[in-house]
Amino acid sequence: MILPKFEYKKARTIEEALEIYSQYNGEAFYLAGGTDLVPLLKHRLFNPKVVIDIKGIEELKTITKKGGNLLVGPNATLYELKGTPEIQEKLPCLFQSLDATSCETLQMRGTIGGNIMQNTRCLQYNKSLEWRTARGFCYKMGGKTCNVVLNAKACYSNYCGDNAPSLMTVDAKARIVGPTGEKTIKVEKLFSGDGKEPFTVKPGEILKGIIIPLKETKGAYEKLTVRGSIDYPLVGVAVTIKDGSAKVGVTGIGPCPRVYELKEVNEKEINNIADKAYEDAKPVLNAVLTPAYRKKMVGVLIKRVFKRIEKGGSR
Ligand SMILES: Cc1cc2nc3c(=O)[nH]c(=O)nc-3n(C[C@H](O)[C@H](O)[C@H](O)COP(=O)(O)OP(=O)(O)OC[C@H]3O[C@@H](n4cnc5c(N)ncnc54)[C@H](O)[C@@H]3O)c2cc1C
Repeated sequence: MILPKFEYKKARTIEEALEIYSQYNGEAFYLAGGTDLVPLLKHRLFNPKVVIDIKGIEELKTITKKGGNLLVGPNATLYELKGTPEIQEKLPCLFQSLDATSCETLQMRGTIGGNIMQNTRCLQYNKSLEWRTARGFCYKMGGKTCNVVLNAKACYSNYCGDNAPSLMTVDAKARIVGPTGEKTIKVEKLFSGDGKEPFTVKPGEILKGIIIPLKETKGAYEKLTVRGSIDYPLVGVAVTIKDGSAKVGVTGIGPCPRVYELKEVNEKEINNIADKAYEDAKPVLNAVLTPAYRKKMVGVLIKRVFKRIEKGGSR
């Protein structure tokens, strides 16, 4: 499948990227590794006038330690992050979700920024223009219906990023910069909960950095897939235990990842959270496994990941 026509501009600084974005009145997309965006362009799901390559912006590439935090530039590749000693030693949940993302070839190209900001997915959406035209456009394509749930009022596409839930469990924050200034928010606040427009960032805003607290943690990540590798999570569960309490992140079901907190780590609390996450999960028939099975696996995976951590955490 070939790409549609668009202009290609390479930005050398954040200011330059923001400037190009405004010159094209927002009919633009930022490009990092391109592994999420390029297939969407090929499918004609977006037709921007310009694609702004931000890969060459040096300040977005760095990984440094400062004041007990790891400061990660969004253009760091998943592979670089996976190889970062602080992540390997202190943040096993994040290490495992990075390792579980697709395959190493993709990890060497895909960035953490692009991974967090990847679009939501649906079996009825990630299709060619011809296929979608025959079926009829849904909410996410600018139509007035959902092609999965009859009479639905909103879009049920799934957020399938492996690493946002892990980042949420380690209390990571996102630095956002845009035409009106800069702000720092919790990673969970990046998500709107609306499958049509899954992110809270405003048009043109750039994810400038991720702040990850470097505390000693225990943790693990597990995902349900149909293949052994190169597969999106049909459910993904991230667990991080820190100072006796724990956070659980759930991805792959619904338009945003969710995070839950356990004040103490004991069987009763784990069962409560597994039940709550099971209740909250509302999968629909828009992925390759049945909704009932995916829903059930939310609770199963939560309990399984805690058991694994108890036994040392390795996969
Ligand atoms: C075969 C295949 C398998 C995959 N498997 C998985 C998987 O198992 N798990 C998983 O999580 N993902 C998976 N992916 C999705 C994707 O490849 C990865 O998430 C990757 O990390 C995306 O990063 P990228 O740099 O290529 O993003 P890009 O495609 O460059 O960008 C993705 C989106 O983020 C935006 N963006 C990028 N950087 C910024 C920034 N700094 N500020 C604001 N917006 C930004 C872009 O505009 C775009 O909308 C898979 C993709 C493919 C093709």
